Amino acid sequence: MNNHITVLEIDGNALKHNLQYFKNKLENDTKVLVVVKAFGYGSEASEIAKYLENDVDYFAVAYTDEGIALRNSGVTKPILVLHPQIPNLELIIKHQLEPNLYNFTILNAFLELADSKLLLNYPIHIKFNTGLNRIGFWHTDVPLILSNIAATNHVKIESLFSHLAASDDVNEKEFTTNQINDFAFIVKQFYTHLNYKPMVHLLNTSGIVNYPQAQFDMVRLGIGLYGFGNNKKETNQLKNVVSLKSIISQIHLIKPGDSVGYNRAFTANKQMKIGTIPVGHADGISRKLGNKKYSVSVNNQPAKIIGNVCMDMIMIDVTNIDCKETDEVIIFNSQEMLEEMATNSETISYEVLTAISQRVKRLLKC
Ligand SMILES: *Cc1c(COP(=O)(O)O)cnc(C)c1O
Repeated sequence: MNNHITVLEIDGNALKHNLQYFKNKLENDTKVLVVVKAFGYGSEASEIAKYLENDVDYFAVAYTDEGIALRNSGVTKPILVLHPQIPNLELIIKHQLEPNLYNFTILNAFLELADSKLLLNYPIHIKFNTGLNRIGFWHTDVPLILSNIAATNHVKIESLFSHLAASDDVNEKEFTTNQINDFAFIVKQFYTHLNYKPMVHLLNTSGIVNYPQAQFDMVRLGIGLYGFGNNKKETNQLKNVVSLKSIISQIHLIKPGDSVGYNRAFTANKQMKIGTIPVGHADGISRKLGNKKYSVSVNNQPAKIIGNVCMDMIMIDVTNIDCKETDEVIIFNSQEMLEEMATNSETISYEVLTAISQRVKRLLKC
């Protein structure tokens, strides 16, 4: 049981709106895989997956334990594990998860296991590196992959995929177009040599926005589902999904010369009213946001964080705000607030979202 008062609210209707927004950009028969890695981008994975299960075709997670958590909560749709890792391959099979096999080390390990278990047509996914240089086979590996796969009926290639390095950056159009073309050429070789057609997918959120011509059979929707588009214009079309809310635990009246917080980082030059909020850097509030780099909202008015962000608390300036202990505090409840948090802590929305720690209670509202 989690009895923390600080809560991350997840708006189910906003999730459905955002999903539909991206579906409207796609051909009718393009499948949608929803990425719920890293606890659903820091929100909540299992509840969201169950809530969206009838509206999507696939889920993806990064690691095996994330996939197991989805299965344990009752998710039955196919789950692609993007980075399964060899020691977990038994678990992958046990929980009916679908591994991404991205090099010969893991492909051969899985083939050996599939052989020994006499699996039949177990769904696997093959990932190609077309320029991100993170994980994936090279195009020169295609013949050997094909001959390894041709020799067995223990596995079946469910999909072929790759990942764009700069789908959000219009200045990288040439690089991205090359990635798309290289990938299409790889796919063609599989089509020629296999007697079945694996699904093909390439696009993440900003890929859907910028390169819809490369949607192939399926797209992989991540950050967009959670309310953040490729740019301001896209984000404005999306609904805010996550809101971080807390309360004022205590109000202090301080005098000129009084300091606030560790290392006395803030000193009052006048009489002030300050509020203490039970959320700190251990909850995902970056220390970079201390010392007036971010304002939360109290009774619809901005209140700056003063002094250093503590592990479990922040102090805010509520001198000019009509408020009392136990009043609600909005850390963020809009994409604008979260983007501002990201900018002021020198990062991107993805990191702010995924930094919200697991000790904050999650509440899916729908
Ligand atoms: C995280 C991830 C995605 C989703 O990307 P977004 O930019 O959040 O839409 C898609 N594909 C792969 C391989 C990923 O790792």
